[in-house]
Amino acid sequence: MNQAINTQFVNTAEVQAQDAAHHLHPFTNTGALNAKGARVITGAEGVYLWDSEGNKILDGMAGLWCVNMGYGRKELTAAASSQMDQLAYYNTFFQTTNTPAARLAKEIASVTPGDLNRIFFANSGSEAIDTIIRMVRQYWCIEGKPYKNILISRENAYHGSTVGGTSLGGMSGMHKQGAPLMPGVERIRQPYWYGEAGDMSEEEFGIACASALEEKILEVGPDNVAAFVGEPIQGAGGVIVPPANYWAEIQKICKKYDILIAADEVICGFGRTGSWFGSETFGITPDIISMAKGLSSGYLPISAVAVGDRIADALTAHDDDFNHGFTYSGHPVAAAVALENIRLMKEENIVEYVGKEIGPYFQQQLREVLGDHPLVGHIEGVGLVAGMALVKDKASKEGFGEGIDIGMICRDHCFANGLIMRAVGRRMVLSPPLVISKAEVDELCEKALKCFDLTLETVNAL
Ligand SMILES: *Cc1c(COP(=O)(O)O)cnc(C)c1O
Repeated sequence: MNQAINTQFVNTAEVQAQDAAHHLHPFTNTGALNAKGARVITGAEGVYLWDSEGNKILDGMAGLWCVNMGYGRKELTAAASSQMDQLAYYNTFFQTTNTPAARLAKEIASVTPGDLNRIFFANSGSEAIDTIIRMVRQYWCIEGKPYKNILISRENAYHGSTVGGTSLGGMSGMHKQGAPLMPGVERIRQPYWYGEAGDMSEEEFGIACASALEEKILEVGPDNVAAFVGEPIQGAGGVIVPPANYWAEIQKICKKYDILIAADEVICGFGRTGSWFGSETFGITPDIISMAKGLSSGYLPISAVAVGDRIADALTAHDDDFNHGFTYSGHPVAAAVALENIRLMKEENIVEYVGKEIGPYFQQQLREVLGDHPLVGHIEGVGLVAGMALVKDKASKEGFGEGIDIGMICRDHCFANGLIMRAVGRRMVLSPPLVISKAEVDELCEKALKCFDLTLETVNAL
């Protein structure tokens, strides 16, 4: 355990009291949290976290789907430190650039698929999504079709928490708050086979969900639709892996009506599914993609939009500014860290490791160790991301009643037993650091099994 993980000087009660008095947490019921006190995370190494009470916790979520290269990477610390000494900040608005930003743009272009070779920088996934919204609409304006501005997304999609991201996303809990939403968004059903397909085969359901896009396009009018936006795999929605034929059908339809495809790669990007981008895993050829999280392994906030030739050429040829950007677009320190993160990923062949070795092992072990558990209705996932539906009855897929928040019960057992696993409704999701070893995958599965047993005991006692 290194110095950073030393917990002996942390006064837990004091930190919790300060936090409760002054810190409003995101996506949190503040009153309920303050009543019990936030857990104080004090350090981390590899795939493990430590809290102020000295507990060691296996981080099955890589923070928030982002710490792909694991905690405590000194190479990333060093990259930040030396860039801060050299040039801590300058903007990229005033006809200026900086070395890390330029190099990072080139480096990102070297790993993105297709012709996604031009990069716009922002600081978060939400800002990248807002950039896509503004950029695709501006593209159609440049093309002389300002009316072609409607975006189509999906129910239960997550595209961030700004007004643009919330509006584009399909999270009903978010839509209820801070209304009105941004206009110009239409949504179609999500391709959630296990939960919503009824008797349809995966293939039939894939076609049905893609057909919903065509119906929506015809309803709205093809000439009014700017783009279809989707996560290759829906992450925050509970890790929903679409049927194998879904994305090919979606693409066919977008081509037919000349509608742009935007892939939100904020989770799937940077190796999570065993390719550099989820678009490759699913055979998507997007016109534009967003990335964030794994871009810097979460060490500093940075996001990017990779833009294909069609849009980038139009923006470049257009005789006007693109009036969009952020103070920290192309921040040199964040860029230096992302650059070093990509270098490490390449040096350690991490994408191949996820695609060929640890990803398949993780998926196989989850099914082998947890698949027969009475609570586990279904496991789906690709690479190092997975979602598991917890059910009362495996055969009928019936869930627990309204009064039993099965996900929260399970999550709390995980928390108390040294494992971070996230609950999304009745689905438990995992997205561990990409550097996880086989022994650590085994440990994760054993811990999850124990927590599923405890969850079952809890509901049986209710
Ligand atoms: C996390 C996430 C976002 C938002 O990213 P922030 O950095 O939290 O703004 C957008 N899209 C997807 C798919 C995400 O998972």
